[in-house]
Amino acid sequence: MRPRGMGGGVTESERFGCEACCAEDASAARAHHQSYTGVRLETMIQDDSHFIVSVQRCGLCSQAFVSVFTEYVDWAGSRDAQYRTVLPITDTEADDLTAGRLSPHRAGALGHGRRHLQSDWPSSADEPSVYWSSGVFEVREGY
Ligand SMILES: [Zn+2]
Repeated sequence: MRPRGMGGGVTESERFGCEACCAEDASAARAHHQSYTGVRLETMIQDDSHFIVSVQRCGLCSQAFVSVFTEYVDWAGSRDAQYRTVLPITDTEADDLTAGRLSPHRAGALGHGRRHLQSDWPSSADEPSVYWSSGVFEVREGY
């Protein structure tokens, strides 16, 4: 029996973003991320043709995101496979990525305990499947 006050230990998960950039509906969130006034590029971290990592920021709530875009050239298919992961990050993490203290290849580790917006577009599909996923993800360079 431990006398304990109520309300100790807030366990609510970290909350990121606004109802636009972190909309429950993944397709709506993606639309905001792609719109001109939505989530904008802040800093390009790595810009290879098949591997693009950038820090972006919501124009409405200033939430920072790391965006990891990977493309796999599919010589057999008519279209290249494209995968994109967008993860909300703290300003400190954004600074670390921008300053090179945090490798873009390790950005996936930031996903621990958070949701990220995933867009998968394999070459066989007519349109991307967009969904919220969570947890640590693997960052791989395309080719
Ligand atoms: Zn926002």
